[in-house]
Amino acid sequence: DRFRYWDVRKVRTTCSFCGVGCQMELLIKGDKIVEVQPYDGAANNNMLCVKGKFGYKFVNHPDRLKTPLIKRDGKFEQATWDEAYDLIVSKLKEAIDDHGPDSVAGFSSARCTNEENYLFQKFLRAVVGTNNVDHCARLCHASTVAGLATTLGSGAMTNSNREALKSDVILVSGSNTTEAHPVIGAHIQQAKEKGAKLIVAEPREIELAKEADIFLQIKPGTNVAFFNGMMHVIIKEGLQDKEYIAARTENYEELEKIMESYPPEKVAEICGIDAEDLIAAAKMYAEGERAAIYYSMGVTQHSTGTQGVMSVSNLALLCGNIGKEGAGVNPLRGQNNVQGACDMGALPGDYPGYQKVINPEAQAKFEKAWGRSLNNKAGLTITEVVNGVEDGSIQFLYVMGENPAVSDPDTTHVEAALKKANFIVAQDIFMSETAEFADVVLPAGSFAEKDGTFTNTERRIQRVRQALKPIGESKPDWVILTELMNKMGYEASYSHPSEIMDEMASVTPQYGGISYDRIDEEGLQWPCPTKEHPGTPVLHTETMSRGLGLFKPADYIESAETPDKDYPYIMTTGRILYHYHTRTMTKRVKGIDVMFPESYIEINPITASRLDLADGDKVKVASRRGDIVTTAKVTDKVVEDVVFMPFHFYENGANRLTGTALDPTAKIPELKVSAVRLEKA
Ligand code: SF4
Repeated sequence: DRFRYWDVRKVRTTCSFCGVGCQMELLIKGDKIVEVQPYDGAANNNMLCVKGKFGYKFVNHPDRLKTPLIKRDGKFEQATWDEAYDLIVSKLKEAIDDHGPDSVAGFSSARCTNEENYLFQKFLRAVVGTNNVDHCARLCHASTVAGLATTLGSGAMTNSNREALKSDVILVSGSNTTEAHPVIGAHIQQAKEKGAKLIVAEPREIELAKEADIFLQIKPGTNVAFFNGMMHVIIKEGLQDKEYIAARTENYEELEKIMESYPPEKVAEICGIDAEDLIAAAKMYAEGERAAIYYSMGVTQHSTGTQGVMSVSNLALLCGNIGKEGAGVNPLRGQNNVQGACDMGALPGDYPGYQKVINPEAQAKFEKAWGRSLNNKAGLTITEVVNGVEDGSIQFLYVMGENPAVSDPDTTHVEAALKKANFIVAQDIFMSETAEFADVVLPAGSFAEKDGTFTNTERRIQRVRQALKPIGESKPDWVILTELMNKMGYEASYSHPSEIMDEMASVTPQYGGISYDRIDEEGLQWPCPTKEHPGTPVLHTETMSRGLGLFKPADYIESAETPDKDYPYIMTTGRILYHYHTRTMTKRVKGIDVMFPESYIEINPITASRLDLADGDKVKVASRRGDIVTTAKVTDKVVEDVVFMPFHFYENGANRLTGTALDPTAKIPELKVSAVRLEKA
């Protein structure tokens, strides 16, 4: 777009892609975004990645949904808002009257604002009467929420984005940081340039691995063994922080006992690494004054994800690295507002602020605030809801800004379930693969068309500001939810998202001091319990949120699916820099999509030659769930027995192959390990 700088107006807002929460200015000419410039926010140091800088063109894309749609005889027809609302209300009442409130379920959205997530779960809980509300955190960091809440009392990143620059040792495991959280990746690279030591433990030779002092190419699914091996060496060498352990932790004896069984030689064998490298990495981490751990879905998306997270926490506690600037345990949250969606209670067992629905005091508090009696039975998770849609126990499914037909494991099964659904409402900015299955589609506003807040991965609540009028007849999600509440006979009179924030702050202790006037410039990091509180950059400084840090050691258990003669390779999945989740946005930005427009699979050269495959050849990949044909990318980023696929694609997508084995505590699927077979197509 050609424009003169004096012809545009600038609106400062928060990037709508990943959880780093970069601040930016949208340059607006007329009713279009024509450029994006970085803004020097607290989380991003004046940086933006390629998605933030160039990925804005989805906002004005002609594919945007512009009117409500109702499916009649299998075809979508344009409808008025009143027609759409009337149909939704009648179907919702029918499901509640005939099958009870628990026959209704909703997927909230880590893409939407805090205010919208708050309203969505309030709609299901107070208006419908069910706790069947979940969102895609179930697929990414449910195990972080469960694991860190157990060991520390709070399931969030303990430190802040920029603190990487203060670390003297950084351990990255299960995170391809430069691609998935590029600005935090850049902070880590800057720290390395300034002299910090870098250890990378990853199944692929990612960009950070090339810069690392020690790179351990661990087999997918062996995280618990790896962390146990690190702790074994540290204890053996007497490098643990004894004073800190005595003063600030409990259950150390059990940790010491279990770690005895993880000598470096055994761990090296399990993880496929060199024992000497493991010993060197353990010493390097333990000798750091301010040693930080960064992790993401390589740790969480396993049937032992919660144990993996607790092992990370054990290691940090062992060396006194919790509650210290530049150190900590730093789970990097994926989507722009996945932290906020969890904080707002878009979870089946939690009201806003992780107040449990099974706790009678919390129930009484929210009954008083919302004026309705509430259900005290924890609701269903995403995977359980999909099964309920299939067997008919879920009669009404409301999907706000989620795309399970691409993002969930075993998508062939998800599609079969959606096909059988009794009634689906999809609220989105584009006709997603999931919306195709809906009975009613509601056009929502993008981040550029509404006010609100996102909470980034470092717990910072930041403003999102309206820059454009809603496209066509679309409406911001909070407006749609407010109108539907009233149509269902529940009085809701919000005229601006700041009023929703005020209500939410009054019932959510961590957000008690948050209001729009206080977060206008910098944002604030929770916990921020009072209007005078300055926010909390580092958690657990004096005591842990639960009092003492709890060592929760676990033995290594193999992944649910391991290679065998029929399916001899381990497939792992992940992200690429140029795409965002299910590509509903990035595939519509030509300049970005062109970099990787199709699915592919990374295969080691030795494996490729065994299968007579050359780079660019078509390859059939089969798992116990199904098969696809994709393109071979021959590379030594992966080792012989491991292959890698990005998960962003619908056509020939990786999730046609992934399985539904769940972590029993967090119910997160094991998306990182599937056994597959390869053959030339
Ligand atoms: Fe946006 Fe994340 Fe890139 Fe920052 S790092 S510009 S938040 S996608």
